[in-house]
Amino acid sequence: MAHDPRYDILFEPVKIGPKTTKNRFYQVPHCTALGTYSPHATAKFREIKAEGGWGVVNTELCMIHPSSDSSPSGGERLWSDDDKPGLRLMVEAVQKHGALAGCELTHQGALAGNRMSRERPMSASPRPAMDVPAIVRQMDKQDISDVRKWHRAAARRARDIGFDIVYVYASHMMGLPGDFITERVNRRTDEYGGVIENRARLLRELIEDTKDEIGSDCAVAVRFGVDEGIGDAGYTCSGDGRRVVEMLAELPDLWDVNVQNINLDVMTARFADEGWQEPFTAFVKQVTTKPVVAVGRYTSPDRMVSLIKNGLVDLIGAARPSIADPFLPRKIEEGRIDDIRECIGCNTCLSMQYMGGGIRCTQNPTTGEEWRRGWHPERVPAKMSDERILVIGGGPAGLEASLTLGRRGYSVALSERSNFLGGRSVLESTLPGLSTYRRVADYRIGQLHKLANVDIYMGSEIQASDVSDFDFTTIVVATGSTWDRDGIGKANRFPVNGWDQSHVITPDKVIAGHAIEGPVVIYDDEGYYLGGVIAEKLAKQGLDVTLLTPDPEPSPLLKYTSERETVHQTLLNVGVKLVTAKHLVEIGAEEVEVRCNYTGQATRLPAVTVVMVCLRSPNDGLLHDLRTVTADTPPKFSVHAIGDCFAPGTIADAVHSGHRVGREMDQTPIGDINYLIEKPFVRDATAWDRLASGR
Ligand code: ADP
Ligand code: SF4
Repeated sequence: MAHDPRYDILFEPVKIGPKTTKNRFYQVPHCTALGTYSPHATAKFREIKAEGGWGVVNTELCMIHPSSDSSPSGGERLWSDDDKPGLRLMVEAVQKHGALAGCELTHQGALAGNRMSRERPMSASPRPAMDVPAIVRQMDKQDISDVRKWHRAAARRARDIGFDIVYVYASHMMGLPGDFITERVNRRTDEYGGVIENRARLLRELIEDTKDEIGSDCAVAVRFGVDEGIGDAGYTCSGDGRRVVEMLAELPDLWDVNVQNINLDVMTARFADEGWQEPFTAFVKQVTTKPVVAVGRYTSPDRMVSLIKNGLVDLIGAARPSIADPFLPRKIEEGRIDDIRECIGCNTCLSMQYMGGGIRCTQNPTTGEEWRRGWHPERVPAKMSDERILVIGGGPAGLEASLTLGRRGYSVALSERSNFLGGRSVLESTLPGLSTYRRVADYRIGQLHKLANVDIYMGSEIQASDVSDFDFTTIVVATGSTWDRDGIGKANRFPVNGWDQSHVITPDKVIAGHAIEGPVVIYDDEGYYLGGVIAEKLAKQGLDVTLLTPDPEPSPLLKYTSERETVHQTLLNVGVKLVTAKHLVEIGAEEVEVRCNYTGQATRLPAVTVVMVCLRSPNDGLLHDLRTVTADTPPKFSVHAIGDCFAPGTIADAVHSGHRVGREMDQTPIGDINYLIEKPFVRDATAWDRLASGR
């Protein structure tokens, strides 16, 4: 199908210095937690985006020298020629699909922990380092000259590998030249400090050096945070941020612009809508003739067209939309707008950079699995048998399993006991800031309706006795999980006294809109988003709300999604009282007793309602009943448990689990421990593997 001509503009080529991109879809640099540790996985991950139509595909941060060492989190390196082969895999993989490959050369300055290299972190002026016990030392003239030399050498290596675009990075408070620009950090009195011309000197020099070194072979891009995002406490896009772009306007071949503070640049959908950075970056095109790219979690082609027509950008920058749907450009080009898998803005992808382990995505279960499990986001293998499959439960796991099995050509019946599909993704989407979670269900429901071999039965609660009446050969149980009320969690190993009173409830009651009486104590021993979101909802209803947690801060796991500050700010702004590092010991009729984790000192909080956000237990009664039925020999059918019914986790885990059963049901003995031990997935060869194999 041809695309609507109004989208033609998105497929126009754009000249970037000596290179030309075939269209306006630009995957900006973004982290993967794969990088230098998994070059094959990285290459395949980026290749699939090129195959999906992105005109430019960039690396993540690529460190230029051991004094910028991001270990143990991923990231790329071009410290020496030894690092070239890994990145060459990516360049070749991307270019074979007609896309340009870009490399984000970086010196992280003060932000480099240098845990592995043991170099001392350095920057414009001294300050305590982040996350490592060290004082960042002030760079002298020799250091500045060394950084310039290292940057040139890394640029040469990037050019020699074959990169088309090479970056100078000054954003996210992670790029050394950005540290020099902000007066909050730069207290120098030499020619690199003081007036903005001086503070921007290092950025200017790095651009000039890179142009001089490789400018005739590669396009030179700058990534610059034009506003610190903290008002007058930092530089702004109407002050020094603008001044920097004006001064250097024509020097680079491309401006890739955003907000300097990473927490604001990567805001989740909970706190920012699509395009929230436009007020900051809109001026850039007015002060340069060079192409401009900016991000904003854009997934709508109409919005993209208007951005270009209104002169805000030349290229549509995307990190998360390209992860959730690597084939987004192709789908627009082929007029398949309904097939776009829209990012939900949850930052599960980003969290893996901080936690380590490899990128993943709530919407796209194949993310990070492209190479190691051979999963393609758009292609599944044809069915290998004539199994007739019943999927029980239409939450994220059941929907994804039905979709994957249906696409493979299996005959699938999906039974859902309620009158809606989507399970917790739809229920949670009614909470403040989580409306995009619906997209998990919407995308899959839309796709399932296109499959004639999948039948969906609503209002159909399945019991084990029902199944024997049909001729299904495989049953996939995706019945989800239920919140427990007893308060057992990380802090309490035994039920909390008084947990079984009627005013002790779980999040589903709040989500379902039950009348709640205040004062309310929310006991959050999960530490993820739900406790905070429920607190926000109830406080906005005017209730007196206390968020009580045994953790040292509310929603501690949200530091990985870059939401820590915004969550604190929001909860305090709506009047939620925060009680941290205390655990619940007793629930009375109108108050609770809590104890300090450290001193054991007891205090009391008023509580007419207590909401427990602690453990979830699998809804596995049906699963056990079915397994009892299949204890017959020969068994009538095989049974697989997926999603929260197998092990309660994130929505991303549930979708991944559904996808996995769909792919592997007929290939792998699922749950076969020997298989899992012998060959869970392909790994990039580690030093240990090489030793073991004598390579
Ligand atoms: P997951 O995240 O694992 O998909 P959810 O809790 O979001 O889990 O979804 C589980 C879905 O299963 C819900 O929509 C629920 O209504 C449905 N369900 C639970 N038990 C049954 C059953 N016996 N028959 C049919 N549907 C069921
Ligand atoms: Fe978007 Fe969430 Fe996927 Fe990241 S993990 S790309 S934020 S849907």
